[in-house]
Amino acid sequence: MAKRGILIGRFQPPHKGHVEVAKQILREVDELIIGIGSAQESHTLENPFTAGERMLMLSKALVEAGVKLSRVHIIPIPDVNNHAVWVAHVVSLSPPFSAVYSGNPLVKRLFKETGFEVKTPPMFKRKVYWGAEIRDRMIKGKRWENLVPEAVLEVMREIKAVERLKDLSKTDYLLH
Ligand code: NAD
Repeated sequence: MAKRGILIGRFQPPHKGHVEVAKQILREVDELIIGIGSAQESHTLENPFTAGERMLMLSKALVEAGVKLSRVHIIPIPDVNNHAVWVAHVVSLSPPFSAVYSGNPLVKRLFKETGFEVKTPPMFKRKVYWGAEIRDRMIKGKRWENLVPEAVLEVMREIKAVERLKDLSKTDYLLH
């Protein structure tokens, strides 16, 4: 029986830290499920990219990193407005899994309370490989391109990600 582990994140956007974690987990399990959290969200400053865009970025980044996609299942997971039932919701949407990998304290707590084995993968350069930092740099015109895999950069260019983020950061407040 294949051992499957799940990693859930918003991946706004996927960065080099996420790819390192995925590779690390794949040393311990046969197959990795990547859950795209907050799948219903897009076009906000916190969650600028659609679930489909994030799935595209991740799968291309994993291929680029030499990961066999036959060992990876990427699934969208919309949020539910009740943390107590979220794990059951994840289980209802995902291929079966026995191990959960997360550095997010809430995610860890919810899965532990349901009896899952939860592991915390090591952080890779968390101060820079960090979605909020990357989004902030994109808006401010600072260098961010080195923080994401080349494949993610290509998708970002295709969808004009910097333009989108800059538009989202504007306000019409002063016009009234
Ligand atoms: P994230 O994209 O910030 O991180 C994804 C994973 O990668 C995390 O485990 C994180 O620890 C790890 N990571 C991030 N940067 C790293 C780095 N530099 N090196 C190594 N690892 C790194 O996503 P997140 O915030 O953890 O996503 C949790 C998702 O679960 C969200 O979408 C949230 O809405 C969802 N959720 C929903 C409910 C609900 O609907 N009630 C409840 C709990 C969680």
